[in-house]
Amino acid sequence: MDSSIIKILLVEDNLADADLLGEFLEEADETQWSLVHVEKLQEALQTLAKDHFDVILLDLSLPDKQGLATVAQTHEAAPDLPIVVLTGLNDRVIALEALRQGAQDYLVKGKIDSNLLVRAIRYAIERAHTLKRLRQSEEQLQRLNEELERRVEQQTEELRQKNLSLQSEISGRQHLEEELRYALVKEKELSELKSNIISVVSHEYRTPLATILSSSELLEHYSQQWTEEKRKRHFHRIQSSVHHLTQLISDVLLFNKAEAGKLEFKPEPMDVVAFCQELVEELQLTLKTQHCISLTCFGSAREACLDEKLLRQLLSNLLSNAIKYSPDGGKIQFDLVYETEAVTFRIQDRGIGIPKKDREQLFEAFYRSSNVGTFAGTGLGLAIVKRCVEFHKGQIAVESEVGVGSTFTVTLPLNCTALQEIS
Ligand code: ATP
Ligand code: MG
Repeated sequence: MDSSIIKILLVEDNLADADLLGEFLEEADETQWSLVHVEKLQEALQTLAKDHFDVILLDLSLPDKQGLATVAQTHEAAPDLPIVVLTGLNDRVIALEALRQGAQDYLVKGKIDSNLLVRAIRYAIERAHTLKRLRQSEEQLQRLNEELERRVEQQTEELRQKNLSLQSEISGRQHLEEELRYALVKEKELSELKSNIISVVSHEYRTPLATILSSSELLEHYSQQWTEEKRKRHFHRIQSSVHHLTQLISDVLLFNKAEAGKLEFKPEPMDVVAFCQELVEELQLTLKTQHCISLTCFGSAREACLDEKLLRQLLSNLLSNAIKYSPDGGKIQFDLVYETEAVTFRIQDRGIGIPKKDREQLFEAFYRSSNVGTFAGTGLGLAIVKRCVEFHKGQIAVESEVGVGSTFTVTLPLNCTALQEIS
């Protein structure tokens, strides 16, 4: 196809108007035209489907379509094809609306001459080209924009992922750091504990060892001259010193085990009342002092799921403290109180009491109150009690008045296994 020839599709049912337009075109001799003339819109649409045109001259009142619908349908069939609308004198308003609907220009029949027609055709083609280029660059811009958005989204997602993995790495490291710090603290505590144990134990060992040594030497040299009663007294001294040393060693071992996290916790169903009765009887038998332990049970006794070994440690430490720190003898009240979901052990003495300032540190290992005087002890008993209470997820409280007495109250859940599973 020769690109210098302008191909025009004329849609006009008025043959006189069509001829006139053909003549105007012939008059414009500097341009080459090829004109295809049809009379109906349907024909025009079919022709457009088959052939290429540079411009369409479109009458608005055709036999098969009138008014603006003509423009709309043509524009839909060939969106890039410039449309010049042909209107009557009274159709200016419609012609202007046609421009809004996609026509490039309009010509008023009866007011057309050759120059006007050619100029309208050229301008329409030019405007349509410009519009097409504009639309193409808009589309390209749109594509670029979409591509850009896609890339931004992709990079944002990549960044988000990196950020997430970085965050989890950071929290992993923080966790590790915390564990390390905790391990260091624990190690420091354990090494402090060891040096404390060495100093306390070596100190606490001296007295009973000296007793054993002196009593055994005396027995060796003088037992023949002594009465049976005196000999027995020295044998008892040796026995009670050995007992004390054994107790000391087992306390240290137990506490060390608890600190190293190696103490086992095995709660099992048990009859707490019977257990306490036996414990009191045992203690009462070994007592050489004027103490009396009175056990009273409140509430309806039920089976409890507790660790018997730890409970023995707990209660015997509290009871032996009550005895030890009540030098004038007297009654130790041991109450067992059953509540709905817990059992409370209350041990009350009328001993020396604990000064207020010492009460907070009482459960720390090796801590002893300022008023202990010459009472023997390592300060490990209550630290062991505290660990035993913690294993059972229980509570311990102390009330005391110097010179009046002390009350230790321990509350343990009846079923600590179930509690542990919940927590
Ligand atoms: P041990 O390791 O032999 O038990 P301890 O009795 O000194 O030594 P804990 O049982 O831990 O150690 O008690 C810590 C301190 O608390 C005691 O030294 C004592 O000062 C004070 N204490 C504990 N129980 C009583 C009590 N019932 N009355 C008065 N003081 C008490
Ligand atoms: Mg004690």
